[in-house]
Amino acid sequence: MTAPLSGGGVAGLTLAVQLARAGRRVVLFEKETYPFHRVCGEYISMENYAFLCRIGVPLDQMDLPVMTRFTVSSPTGVALHHPLDIGGVGITRYVLDQLLACLAAEHGATI
Ligand SMILES: Cc1cc2nc3c(=O)[nH]c(=O)nc-3n(C[C@H](O)[C@H](O)[C@H](O)COP(=O)(O)OP(=O)(O)OC[C@H]3O[C@@H](n4cnc5c(N)ncnc54)[C@H](O)[C@@H]3O)c2cc1C
Repeated sequence: MTAPLSGGGVAGLTLAVQLARAGRRVVLFEKETYPFHRVCGEYISMENYAFLCRIGVPLDQMDLPVMTRFTVSSPTGVALHHPLDIGGVGITRYVLDQLLACLAAEHGATI
């Protein structure tokens, strides 16, 4: 049975990769064409790092910047800083989404 998925953001893409790797027939409908830019902070929490590596995204081989501090700034120059206890890495969604779409396609998904 085919698994039809709608929306190729990080949720749809990671699900498509996992279902395709599990041998399911997957069709993912995304209205844009990869690669494309989207508004995002480009922060991947370490909570998700191992999961993304496990499904085939080679984050550990990409020499990504590590983020350990969080800053909120205002137009008037006020800035609030806070340490990020778990931390994360920075990667543009232009690259990450394209990688995930390629992975899904390699495992047989139709995008
Ligand atoms: C300004 C901003 C900064 C953020 N920064 C971060 C960050 O640094 N780190 C982080 O982890 N999260 C961040 N987020 C949150 C993160 O972007 C979302 O949690 C995440 O994108 C949700 O993924 P999703 O796959 O559920 O939805 P989305 O990423 O919204 O994906 C939905 C997809 O569906 C597609 N689509 C929509 N309608 C249709 C249609 N009719 N047919 C086919 N396709 C369709 C869209 O093109 C899109 O690709 C940020 C969010 C915002 C707004």
